[in-house]
Amino acid sequence: MISEHASPLAALGGVDAGGQNAHVAALAAELARQGHDVRVYTRRDDPDVPETVTVRGFEVVHVPAGPPAVLPKDDLLPHMAAFAEWMAADWRATGMPDVAHAHFWMSGLAAVTAGRACDVPVVQTYHALGAVKRRHQGTADTSPEHRTSYERQLGRVVDRVIVQCHDEERELTGMGVPRERMTLVPSGVDLDLFRPDGPAAPRGGRPRILTVGRLVERKGYAELIRALAGVPDAELVVVGGPPAEQLADDPYARRLRDLARECGVGHRVTFTGAVGVADMPRWYRSADVLAATPWYEPFGLTPLEAMACGVPVVATAVGGLTDTVVDGVTGELVPPRDPKALAAVLRRLLTDDVRRVSYGAAALDRARLVYGWPTIAGRLADVYAETAHAFADTTDVREAVA
Ligand code: UDP
Repeated sequence: MISEHASPLAALGGVDAGGQNAHVAALAAELARQGHDVRVYTRRDDPDVPETVTVRGFEVVHVPAGPPAVLPKDDLLPHMAAFAEWMAADWRATGMPDVAHAHFWMSGLAAVTAGRACDVPVVQTYHALGAVKRRHQGTADTSPEHRTSYERQLGRVVDRVIVQCHDEERELTGMGVPRERMTLVPSGVDLDLFRPDGPAAPRGGRPRILTVGRLVERKGYAELIRALAGVPDAELVVVGGPPAEQLADDPYARRLRDLARECGVGHRVTFTGAVGVADMPRWYRSADVLAATPWYEPFGLTPLEAMACGVPVVATAVGGLTDTVVDGVTGELVPPRDPKALAAVLRRLLTDDVRRVSYGAAALDRARLVYGWPTIAGRLADVYAETAHAFADTTDVREAVA
C-alpha cells in the first residue's frame, strides 16, 4: 500500500487521525490477520523514525522523499518522483508485490510510476476528489493546479479503481473515468473497538448531541451551533481538533465559541479537543445522537463508528453519508448548510425515545452486517487477486512490447 501523506502509525498512535490514516491502518492490520504480507509506504516526515516499523502484523516503510519534516499535503507533489524511484528500488531489492494499492491521488502517481517500471499492477482509492473540493472550497482550496486532470488520468491508467460510495462513482464517471474500471467497496469500521457495551464518557442531564472530526469549516460545525439554538436543553459536544490545551489558541475554535455565545448557546457547547482512538467509543456511547453535518464528505467514518456503538446518526445528505445512513431507518438525512432543517430533525429525535432506540438498533445491525473490517478487507483482497490475475494474463503482450 502507498499512503504518501497519511501514515497508519499516526492513527494507531492516537490523536492525529484523519479518515485515511484510520482506513489504511485498519485495512493493513486486517489483511495481515487474514494471512497477507502487507507493507505500507509513507513519506518520512521525521528524521528520527526508523526506516521500517512493524506494527499489528504489517510493515510501515518511511520513504525518504523531500525533507524529513511535516509538510502540508498540498506541497508534496514535487516529491512524488523521488518517492516512486525509491519505492521501485526497494521492490527490486526486497521482492515485487503482487499488487500495489494507492491511497489518495499523489500516492497513485507514485504507484503507477513504480508499477510501470516494475510490472506491478495498481489499484487506486482516491479518498477525496479535487473537483469536489474545488466546488465547495473555491479559492480557499490549495490543491496543486492540475489535480483533477491527474485524477482523471489515473482513473484511466490504473488497473482498478476502488470507489467508496455511489456519489464518488457518479463524480468519477462525470470526469470521464469509465464505470467498468470501478469496483465499489466502502470503508470499514473496527467492530471490536466500536461496540455498544463498555464505558461511556460522563454526562449530565441534558440530551447529548455529539459531533466528531477535524476542526475545519467544511465539517459544518457553525451550522450545528446555529441549529442548537432551536433544540432547547440539548448540549453539543464537539470532539476533535488540536489537543485540549491548544484549543484556546486555535482561531477556528475561537470563532466557533464566539458564534455559540452570539447564538445564546455558549453554555451548552463543549469542545473536548483531540481524543485518542482508543477513547473514541466512550464518547460515542455517551451520546443520544451523532450529528455529522459536513458541506461535503468523500466517505465519512464517524457515522459508521457511531452506528457500530448503537447510536443513531443525523447527517447531511452528501457524499458517502447518503450510503451509510439509511434515512428513516438508521437515522435521518438533512440538506447541507440548513440549520433550520437540522434543528427540526434533532428536536424531534431527541424527544422521541422510541424512534431513537429503533434507529440505534438498526444502525448497529447495519454496521455489523455490512461494514466490519474482516468483510471489507476480504472484498478488497478479492479485488487484488482478480487484478493480479488479469494483469498476469497480459504478461505476454507486455513482454512483446518491451
Ligand atoms: N478521530 C479521532 N480523534 C479525534 C477526532 C477524530 O480519533 O479527536 C477519528 C475518528 O474516530 C475517525 C477519523 O478521525 O476515525 C475521522 O474520519 P472521517 O472520515 O470522519 O473524517 P476525515 O478526517 O477523513 O475528514
